[in-house]
Amino acid sequence: MDGEQSGAVLERPETGSLYQVAVEQLRVAEDALGLDRGMREILESCKAELTVRFPVKMDDGYIRVFEGYRVQHNMARGPGKGGIRYHPWVELDEIRALAMWMTWKCALMDIPFGGAKGGVACQPKELSERELEHLTRRYASEISILIGADRDIPAPDVNTDARIMAWILDTISMHRGHLSPEVVTGKPLSLGGTVGRVEATGRGVMIAALKAMEHLRIPVEGARVVVQGYGNVGSHAARLLGEAGCRIVAASDSSGGVYNPGGLDPEKMGEFKGSGGRLVEYGEGEPLTNDELLTLPCEVLIPAAMESQLTGRNAHLVQARLVVEGANGPTTPEADMIFQERDIFVVPDILANAGGVVVSYLEWVQDRQRYFLELEEVDSKLDKLMKRSFAQVLDAAQQAGITMRAAALTLAVRRVVETTRDRGIYP
Ligand code: NAD
Repeated sequence: MDGEQSGAVLERPETGSLYQVAVEQLRVAEDALGLDRGMREILESCKAELTVRFPVKMDDGYIRVFEGYRVQHNMARGPGKGGIRYHPWVELDEIRALAMWMTWKCALMDIPFGGAKGGVACQPKELSERELEHLTRRYASEISILIGADRDIPAPDVNTDARIMAWILDTISMHRGHLSPEVVTGKPLSLGGTVGRVEATGRGVMIAALKAMEHLRIPVEGARVVVQGYGNVGSHAARLLGEAGCRIVAASDSSGGVYNPGGLDPEKMGEFKGSGGRLVEYGEGEPLTNDELLTLPCEVLIPAAMESQLTGRNAHLVQARLVVEGANGPTTPEADMIFQERDIFVVPDILANAGGVVVSYLEWVQDRQRYFLELEEVDSKLDKLMKRSFAQVLDAAQQAGITMRAAALTLAVRRVVETTRDRGIYP
């Protein structure tokens, strides 16, 4: 979670339904696989959608009603898996899209989960610690009818972290009458969390970026990297790419960003954010807006904030050679076409940011076995799975002459279809 002050809420870009974007992407894979109408209907719909409205007593004594969601897209391959997001942009359409992308991400990484996602429409920066805890516990109670170790396992996402996972875990455990660590992942180590989870998504982004640079023959040493969003994903990706030899020239949060062509210190920026700073006021470079940041000269652009940031409006101005999607859905289909025409290589979200769910899977396995791994074991398994999937996607893309996104989706969808066919249609 980052500590910006309130008032920095950005408007959602006018890019239409995110779920439509997800379905449009899916159809490319459906066409490639020649799927029949029935299978398409299964894949294009969400299995379950829960909308909850619940009251929270605020510190000033007033009651506020919040709206939240938990959506399960497809559970053919296993229990639902997906984060919980607290953000003013949260709405059912967005959560549906994010749940669908989780289905493809888990299938692509070949881990035994389906896709789910949840969220509450709120501005967490305006809530006190007590209000945040009460909102979380009440939301957890409301969605508890869907979640469970074999049913649906939440994890952190935008503006949620290990502390919030601990409150969810405790709430569910109190309901069920026993400690249930495996109902959430991304929780504190003291409650059965795993080493390596906090930085796992950023580490996966780093691995994907380095593999793509190798493929494109971009020298790592001194490669200029721009990072939009300096939260969990962006800050760890920046730090690890910095350690690998890249130069982090710009980074942003929802207040705006900072640009220094000579390079920024990722660790120091992380500490600045940790103490409540806004990157636009960081001072060790030129301040700039999120829009300006996306079109800076660089080799690697990492959108790691919110969806629909790279659009038909700005994609032709992007100067990066490589886009690595730390965020979910940061590129609209229009921007994707422009990148393809301009030969800008995109590592799609379901591959680039899959490190988080891979280590969540390792956490869930450890909790179930009550047997815990060392950091080197977790990191090495993550490294292996990321590289395996990257190679599979690149190979499929090259063989079929298609984009990395189309190849990743086709691989993932094929796996879900195969399982669905093998299971058959109940009854
Ligand atoms: P976070 O809350 O830790 O950080 C989000 C960052 O984005 C913050 O710096 C915030 O200021 C910035 N931001 C928010 N709204 C913005 C806007 N409109 N414009 C510019 N910046 C904005 O969240 P996170 O966990 O790092 O998630 C970031 C993205 O990565 C999301 O798309 C999320 O779904 C995706 N993701 C996260 C994980 C994970 O494990 N946390 C895993 C896979 C994908």
